[in-house]
Amino acid sequence: MDVARHRARRAIANKAHAKVRKAVLAGRLPRLDGSIKCTDCDSPADRYDHREYAKPLQVEPVCINCNKRRGPAIDSHTALFPKRRAH
Ligand SMILES: [Zn+2]
Repeated sequence: MDVARHRARRAIANKAHAKVRKAVLAGRLPRLDGSIKCTDCDSPADRYDHREYAKPLQVEPVCINCNKRRGPAIDSHTALFPKRRAH
């Protein structure tokens, strides 16, 4: 992956993460203060996981381990070039 593409991908992720942060501050998403459990296991969730950056507020609370296991959002590649279809 070249640097420009990597930066663009990070920018998309950052935008989605910023929206989640705003939603938490506005009270639209619960604050992950340790009282909310990870969707995948029973550890306390400490972050919101995106499956699609195209839907920045469609997130699930997860712990660090499950977040790693889940990997990147499904559109972390395609979100860069939404009009281009993969063949
Ligand atoms: Zn977990």
